[in-house]
Amino acid sequence: MNSTSLYVHIPFCKSKCVYCDFLSYSGKEEEVKDYIHGLLREIEIKKPLIKEKTIKTIYIGGGTPTYIDSIHISEIMDHLRRNFNLDQKAEITIEANPGTLDIRKAESYRAAGINRASLGLQCTQDRLLKKIGRIHTFREFEDSFRILRAVGFDNINVDLMGGLPDQTLEDYMESLEIVAGFDPEHISSYGLIPEEGTPLMEMIKTGDFELDEDLERTMYDYLLNFVKSRGYLHYEISNFARKGYESKHNLVYWSLEEYIGLGLGAHSFAGNKRFNNTTDMKRYIDLNLEGLDSSENFIELSSKELKEEFMFLGLRKMEGISVLEYQRKFGNDINEDYGQEISEIKGKMLIEQSGDRIRLTRTGLDFANSVFSAFIKD
Ligand code: SF4
Repeated sequence: MNSTSLYVHIPFCKSKCVYCDFLSYSGKEEEVKDYIHGLLREIEIKKPLIKEKTIKTIYIGGGTPTYIDSIHISEIMDHLRRNFNLDQKAEITIEANPGTLDIRKAESYRAAGINRASLGLQCTQDRLLKKIGRIHTFREFEDSFRILRAVGFDNINVDLMGGLPDQTLEDYMESLEIVAGFDPEHISSYGLIPEEGTPLMEMIKTGDFELDEDLERTMYDYLLNFVKSRGYLHYEISNFARKGYESKHNLVYWSLEEYIGLGLGAHSFAGNKRFNNTTDMKRYIDLNLEGLDSSENFIELSSKELKEEFMFLGLRKMEGISVLEYQRKFGNDINEDYGQEISEIKGKMLIEQSGDRIRLTRTGLDFANSVFSAFIKD
């Protein structure tokens, strides 16, 4: 493989959302400069991993990359260009949150060569945004979207969520309708997943909020019909795009291709190994400033584990997995490993096969996790 992808982590947020268990901090603004110094050094330290490969996608995520001074994003992009060979057509995304973006920042992202923005909205109702701890109003989303368009972003994703506390089906339908009215090139909508240690989990434990799986399923069903009626291509369980605007970066993950993570706690997959940077901010900065690699937790995936990942990541894509690609990648017929599982799940109408492709059915989309777990053997 002569290309690879980069994920760059910016772990700073203005404040924490109630459902968030991402590695991100609020109130650590005084560490931003040192962090960026460490990150710039890490780009040099990780250079041998990239070798002569061309970078085909970059994703600057977080956290909230648009929260910090945009000069730092320009510094990162400059340093990446100086050290790596970026494909001229590389997809370069920045995650943006309404309430942290202005025209000056947006212009500097464009000047730095960033050509895709992913705007975290989640829903359009201010009462719900407040409830889940988002820092912005719907009005601020409108401003951010218009700013991005005004400076030339012609590839914008809007993130939505279903199953939020107090969110009704009507709220969700309204959010979709309003967002589609902006005509973004890409929409993603994920169901809420309560994570241990988050205020949301506390709300569930104390009975302040109860998950409603039936409602989430109804929302998902509505979503699939709605986006189709608006001409979006459903290409991954929770992701929808205008033709040609599928997220190339996320497809790298779902296709079990190589990527290198830069920044605090960032994960990498290279040479059949998974590893991540330290999650300790001080250690991350110190190691990099000393010229040392901050990677740890190296796990070499066995052939069995690679096959499992190929299956459950690949089946997230609506095009499913290719039987021929399996043969080419692993050197044996898929049925030798999973013949029984495939026939059982097919029997339950959760997957279907046509020609070279095995993919989830509509029912399979509702039970995707049980399909995935069938491909993980003890
Ligand atoms: S903006 Fe994103 S990363 Fe930051 S707290 Fe909210 S969900 Fe987490």
